[in-house]
Amino acid sequence: GLVRHHPLYRGTVLRRRNGTVRAVDGVSFDVRAGETLGLVGESGCGKTTALMEVLRLTRPQRGAVRLFGRDTAALTAAERKALRRDVQVVFQDPFASLDPRMRVAEILAEPLLVHGVPRARIDARVRELLALVGLDPAHAARHPHGLSGGQRQRVGIARALALEPRLLLLDEPVASLDVSVQAGIMALLEELRARLGLAYLFVAHDLAVVRLLADRVAVMYRGRIVEIGPVADVYGAPVHPYTRALLDAVPRPDPHRERRRRPAPLPGDPPDPSEQPRGCRFRARCPSYAASADAAWRTLCETDEPRPRPVPDGSGRLVACHHLEGGRP
Ligand code: SF4
Repeated sequence: GLVRHHPLYRGTVLRRRNGTVRAVDGVSFDVRAGETLGLVGESGCGKTTALMEVLRLTRPQRGAVRLFGRDTAALTAAERKALRRDVQVVFQDPFASLDPRMRVAEILAEPLLVHGVPRARIDARVRELLALVGLDPAHAARHPHGLSGGQRQRVGIARALALEPRLLLLDEPVASLDVSVQAGIMALLEELRARLGLAYLFVAHDLAVVRLLADRVAVMYRGRIVEIGPVADVYGAPVHPYTRALLDAVPRPDPHRERRRRPAPLPGDPPDPSEQPRGCRFRARCPSYAASADAAWRTLCETDEPRPRPVPDGSGRLVACHHLEGGRP
C-alpha cells in the first residue's frame, strides 16, 4: 500500500544486466530519537538505497544501522514488525507516489484501515491529519491532480504520519517542488518534528537544504560513508577531501537569479556503485592524492580501503581517509 508506486521499493535499483548489485555495502550509521540525520552525495552514491534498507529493516550486507539505539539486524520478528509501523516514508515526487484515482481522504485512510483502525475513527483522524499539515478539510474530497505540488507533498507527509511513526524517511522531500514552495514544506517538517518528537533520516542532493534541516550529516561516496558528524562541524570545517570538494561546488547565492543553480560537477567519473576498486574509492578524484609526492603516503591510498575513524577535534565526527592530519598538502 504505502510504497507500491515507488520504483525503488520494487528493488529495481539493485538489479543490473550483469546480475544483482548491492549499492550500499559498507554503511554504518545510527538515527537517534528526535534528531535529523541527512544523507548527502552525488546521485548513484547509494544514499537512497540506504534509506530503503532502513525502510525495509533488512540487514545491511556490511555495516550496521542502529535506530533509536537498536541494531536493526538484531531485532526479533515481533520487534521488526512493531518497528515497521514506527518507520514511514515521504517520497520525492508526491504525484508519482499518490494514487491518482483515490481522493485525499482515501489516501489518508488507507494506512489506517490496513492497520485495523476502526472505521468510526477514520474520518476524525483524516481531518486531524489534514490540519496537522496545514490543509483545509475541503481538500479531503480532491484527487491528487486537483492539488498544487506543495499541497500534494503535504498529503504525502500526512499519509506518512497517519500511524504516528517515530521516524520519517524523507527521500528528497522538496527536490521536485518550486523554490517558492520549498521553504514552506521545510518549515512544516521542522514544526512537525518539534511538535511530534519525530526523528528524520533524509536524503538530499541540495546541501543547503540539508544544512537547514539536519542536526548531523553523513556524506556518502560509492556506497560508503566518508564523513559523518554534526552539521556545524562538517559544513564549517570539512575534513574528507570529497566533502571539501562537494562544499566547494556549492554555488554562492545569487540575488539576481530566482532558482539556485545546480552545483558544478566534480572532475572525474561519476560514481559507479558496482565497481569495487582497491584502496580508497575516492582516489581517482582525490585532489589530496593527486597533489601528494610522498610515495608511502600514496601507497596507503592505493592499497587500503580507509575505515571511518574519529577526527581528533572532539566533535564526535568520523572520517574515512588515511590522511586525516596530512590531508591538505
Ligand atoms: Fe584521498 Fe587517500 Fe584520503 Fe582517499 S585515503 S580520500 S585517496 S587522501
